[in-house]
Amino acid sequence: MYRTRTRVAVLGAGIVGCACARELALAGLDVTVIDRGAAASATTAHGEGNVLVSDKGPGPELELAQLSRRLWPQVLQEVAERCPHAARAVEWEPKGSIVVATTDAGARELTRFAADQRAAGVRSEVLDADALAEAEPYVTREHTAALHYPEDAQVQPAAAAAALLTDALAAGATLRTDCEVLGAVTHGDRITGVRTSTGLLEADWFIDAAGPWSGALSARLGAPVDVRPRRGDVLVTTPLPPTVFHKVYDADYVGAVGSSAEELQTSAVVESTRGGSVLIGSSRRRVGFDDRLRPEVLSAVAAKALRLFPTLAGVPVMRAYGGFRPYVPDHLPVIGADPRLVGLWHVGGHEGAGIGLSVGSARLLRRLMLDQPTDMDATPFRVDRPAVLRACTPTASEETA
Ligand SMILES: Cc1cc2nc3c(=O)[nH]c(=O)nc-3n(C[C@H](O)[C@H](O)[C@H](O)COP(=O)(O)OP(=O)(O)OC[C@H]3O[C@@H](n4cnc5c(N)ncnc54)[C@H](O)[C@@H]3O)c2cc1C
Repeated sequence: MYRTRTRVAVLGAGIVGCACARELALAGLDVTVIDRGAAASATTAHGEGNVLVSDKGPGPELELAQLSRRLWPQVLQEVAERCPHAARAVEWEPKGSIVVATTDAGARELTRFAADQRAAGVRSEVLDADALAEAEPYVTREHTAALHYPEDAQVQPAAAAAALLTDALAAGATLRTDCEVLGAVTHGDRITGVRTSTGLLEADWFIDAAGPWSGALSARLGAPVDVRPRRGDVLVTTPLPPTVFHKVYDADYVGAVGSSAEELQTSAVVESTRGGSVLIGSSRRRVGFDDRLRPEVLSAVAAKALRLFPTLAGVPVMRAYGGFRPYVPDHLPVIGADPRLVGLWHVGGHEGAGIGLSVGSARLLRRLMLDQPTDMDATPFRVDRPAVLRACTPTASEETA
């Protein structure tokens, strides 16, 4: 049962752990966040920062995205009241997305998808050729359909995590970095502590927020969940004059997100940052934690982006980076109590949407932990579903953290 000053250890200081730490510290709990590295230094520093509803079909993930989209401005407003510098650095930009189909089949699928979404409360409007040219003057004219999704937004992901963490610390949470979780201390069927590289940490509740390493961490704790890495790579151009005004992506992106294929999937996802660089994604590969950049992947990503924005040909790329999306085989996050180890909670598996979904997931977890009514049905994210608890057979590289 919840009591004030219940001690909570958040294991992982990515954006999801930071969001949870904030929610629970503000609820009056005694929160310690620990990370084997620095805060927001892992996957969270390797994402693009889109807060999207446009790429999700009706269902629980869309509901979580809609909850998160409602929460982001509120959360940032609250952070701004206590920590204005941290809130400003987030670069919140509700700039909307434009989805472009370049084939007849793609146009039909996009139209059908948007109709389903509208029934679930997602706003979108059809852009004819003139409207598209006005909204995105440099996008290809070789398109068959285009839709504007005004609700989509963007943040700077590491700054967003830092803002959430700063607010958590202001509310009394503590942070331990360079502190790796090695295993669990249990008493009967309850977890009472974790062994770490810097000593024992005891608490009443433990939250596995280890992103793509949740599979490895949960196995160390004796309660494995099937969360694996799904690699993504991004190209970053040198700062350009204004060229891309929304997040613009090819309609086939939604299919790539929903696919479970191990082999390379690419689709064009193009957006600018406040500093003027254009981010060009995206790829999806299941290659474990192999963090080598592959020229053939970067070429494939660039080629797709050029089909969408021919004007980017010849633009200098100043760097490329990649990261590991936390992937669950049924493409749904894991949010809830572990049925095998009392006191252990999981929050993760958000794949390519963990930046956007972080605040909604944290709110949901807080309500579940404190036994309060939830903002949406959390059952689809429960830990004891087959995709999460089934016997994990990770490849050797998926086991290696
Ligand atoms: C190329 C790419 C583009 C993306 N674009 C977007 C996007 O536009 N929008 C979006 O919403 N999402 C995007 N994502 C996904 C998003 O980045 C992730 O879903 C999100 O960052 C996951 O956050 P996390 O806190 O769960 O994980 P992480 O940020 O990885 O944090 C987990 C933390 O746990 C720590 N940890 C692990 N093991 C241990 C241990 N044993 N002991 C202590 N600490 C441990 C790690 O050091 C790490 O800091 C993208 C991802 C990639 C790769």
